[in-house]
Amino acid sequence: MNSPTSPTAMQNASPQSHYPRHFSFEFAAPKSAEALAKLAKTHSLLQALNPHFFSVTYGAGGSTKDGTRQAVLDINAAGSLVAPHLSFGGDPASKIAGLLQEYKAAGVTRVVALRGDVPSGSGGAVKLTYANELVAFIRQQTGDHFHIEVAAYPEVHPDSRSVDSDLQYFKAKVDAGANSAITQYFYNAEAYFRFVEACDRLGINIPIVPGIMPITNAQALVRFSANCGADIPRWIKKHLEAYEDDLPSLKAFGEEVVTRLCQQLLDGGAPGLHFYTLNQSAPTLSLWHNLGL
Ligand code: FAD
Repeated sequence: MNSPTSPTAMQNASPQSHYPRHFSFEFAAPKSAEALAKLAKTHSLLQALNPHFFSVTYGAGGSTKDGTRQAVLDINAAGSLVAPHLSFGGDPASKIAGLLQEYKAAGVTRVVALRGDVPSGSGGAVKLTYANELVAFIRQQTGDHFHIEVAAYPEVHPDSRSVDSDLQYFKAKVDAGANSAITQYFYNAEAYFRFVEACDRLGINIPIVPGIMPITNAQALVRFSANCGADIPRWIKKHLEAYEDDLPSLKAFGEEVVTRLCQQLLDGGAPGLHFYTLNQSAPTLSLWHNLGL
């Protein structure tokens, strides 16, 4: 499919287009033994697509830390490259150092380094450590053992003072030793292309892979997007409202919109896609097949 909104001039012109394409899948850390067992099934279905790696989120608030660790070790043992997400989240450095050593000993070679968000209910008592400091810490503890991913925000992180300061702090993560980045999800490809061009002007030379959020649940998407600063364009919101009582139509609409977005990004030179799977195989499998990957 050739998207009408991806100008030919943009094709291959992106500063990102020379990187090899990598596709990866993200899981939310399971919170129970049942969820862990269900995740193993989803993993085996998606493993058949041979993605570059899987990643597993980390609850800086504490509830899912053990879930992250166990899911990472299981996915690693099942033969997939897996990247645990990691943040200080108020923990002492010794605890993070211990976790890094455990992952290293298990053969894990990739991590996603994040500041994380203030845990709800903490009343802001936890002082968060910025991601650039965590990247520096990982390099100091484990040298070049880990390939370090960091987060990027084409639509600007909600806590940022300005577009420029957000870019400078993104650069600080790269300067500290990050190897590649995954973006927050977005539904406007232009935000991504502008972001990677701005990064190029700043001399940021790492792959910046778009994060892709399937549209399967309107209410959850609207709520989550408001918190994380992802913009849902008005026309998408209006369609979500129209399909409020018609889940099959909502899913069909979401699949079409997100397939087009992915195609536009790939046509424009994005170095792969990182799918937020929501721990389900079906939405990612549909996108994968629609894109002919
Ligand atoms: P940072 O890069 O540290 O930036 C946070 C904010 O502070 C930005 O506004 C930035 O401009 C500013 N800033 C950065 N450095 C400095 C500095 N040195 N001094 C002053 N200001 C600074 N959250 C989780 O809890 N668990 C997860 O597993 C998780 N996975 C994610 C995966 C991806 C791909 C993405 C995009 C996000 C994920 N998040 C996760 C959410 C993320 O933790 C939040 O967006 C968080 O608010 C910021 O994390 P960060 O690593 O981008 O922070």
